[in-house]
Amino acid sequence: MKLGIIGGGVLGLTVALRRVQAGDEVVVFEKSQVPGGLAASFPVTDRPDGPYLEKFYHHIFQTDKDIINLINEVGLGDQLEWKTPPTSTFRNGKVYRMDSAFGEIKFKPLKALLRPLTGSTIDTAIAIMRFKPISLFGRLRFGLGGAYLKFESNYQRLSQTTAAQWSQKWMGKSAYEAILKPLLTAKFGKKYDQIAMPWLWSRFHERTQFLGYVRGGFHRFYIKLYEAVVAKGGEVRLGTDVTGIKPTKEGKVLISADGQEFVFDRVVVTTPTRVFIQLAGDALPAVYRERYTSPNSIEHYSAHCVILSLDRKFMETYWLNLNDPGFPFLALVEHTSYMPPSDYDGQHLLYLGNYLPPDHPLFSKSDEEVVAEFLPHLKRVNPAFDSSWIKRSWVWKAPYGQPIVTIGYKDKLPPHQTPIPNVLLANMAHVYPQDRGQNYSVRLGEKIARVIWRARTNASG
Ligand SMILES: Cc1cc2nc3c(=O)[nH]c(=O)nc-3n(C[C@H](O)[C@H](O)[C@H](O)COP(=O)(O)OP(=O)(O)OC[C@H]3O[C@@H](n4cnc5c(N)ncnc54)[C@H](O)[C@@H]3O)c2cc1C
Repeated sequence: MKLGIIGGGVLGLTVALRRVQAGDEVVVFEKSQVPGGLAASFPVTDRPDGPYLEKFYHHIFQTDKDIINLINEVGLGDQLEWKTPPTSTFRNGKVYRMDSAFGEIKFKPLKALLRPLTGSTIDTAIAIMRFKPISLFGRLRFGLGGAYLKFESNYQRLSQTTAAQWSQKWMGKSAYEAILKPLLTAKFGKKYDQIAMPWLWSRFHERTQFLGYVRGGFHRFYIKLYEAVVAKGGEVRLGTDVTGIKPTKEGKVLISADGQEFVFDRVVVTTPTRVFIQLAGDALPAVYRERYTSPNSIEHYSAHCVILSLDRKFMETYWLNLNDPGFPFLALVEHTSYMPPSDYDGQHLLYLGNYLPPDHPLFSKSDEEVVAEFLPHLKRVNPAFDSSWIKRSWVWKAPYGQPIVTIGYKDKLPPHQTPIPNVLLANMAHVYPQDRGQNYSVRLGEKIARVIWRARTNASG
């Protein structure tokens, strides 16, 4: 079978790998020059061969079994490092460590004694109990609510309520105001009070304090995945922008890309649904196009990230949620508080991350304007910060960075089988109830590869 795949992110590459392994003739079309999609990287020094850094901060969790298995399969298992870098919250002008109390201990023998418990539920519970911006009773309620979500395995029970309603009712108003509302607002802006509870459930239920990263960057994983597809006879056409999809009279699928036409028995599209609808145009019934582009369909926020290369450390913490009002970005992520600066020629790398509506004015500003607007706010976190610390900066933007997960989300998802025969659609929005992540795109990719296999087996009798 000739299979075309649109998108060389982790989803498209996973489908490609499984199908080349099964003997299909596979071509992947990726418009970017590097594989990895939203998890793609760029050379963070002037040397084109790296070191590479993700345009948007990335790590995985110990529960991310699907991607862990794939990282092992492509031979990078020994490069996957697990750490408990400090994860903190900035509230009332102070930094509070939220993931671990034991990680903060300075007395070395005691720290060594408690190491096996570092990152455990007990450790996190103690850290939460030290979060002063809410009352002791409020902390207890928050901790108990979090424990319930950790142990509740059936998210369906929570599917008819919003995260805002549920958390205020069960975790208390003060924890909601100080912790959860800022989290929801940071990710979903004005839609913060419409987000379905299963989304919040998955963050408590599925995430671990241990964070995993491929030493040298996820870029190495994407290159290995790309090479594994090519080694089995697949083709990955990087820098190739698909501009059209249509059915042929013979029941095949025609893809237009870079002025050329390619015919396939089957096509898997991994782009966002609205991009698929643009590419297929009239080949799709009007009712389908309207349904999945109407104001009632699934919306996305765009991702925006400034990366600063500093000549010194900005903060001890790796991940800092900014839960005080007035910041023009939602979180600070100091990558080199997690991985050593020596991996990046001594640079200290700090992300200033944001999710925003696609028409937000920030997207029309120049990179220099954005950086100049953001800098004064860094002093709120580290008063010693000075712009002379900055050696370089980058600004990265991506449309469709975060699907908005409202109640009834699942019913708004298009089915994988599209109205065009032999064209399947599977994209990041199909990840539910979990917050999107590389792991779930791998899982979806494995599923789509099996769907193709079953369809082929049925067709051949
Ligand atoms: C700010 C941010 C932080 C994140 N942090 C994490 C994290 O810490 N951990 C984690 O696991 N995940 C994280 N994610 C999510 C993760 O990046 C995604 O879940 C994952 O990369 C999605 O992969 P995908 O293949 O499904 O989609 P995508 O990566 O979006 O792949 C789709 C591909 O299609 C290509 N494409 C689109 N149109 C065309 C066309 N016309 N022709 C050819 N190609 C086309 C795109 O270039 C893209 O490569 C983060 C995402 C963002 C935005």
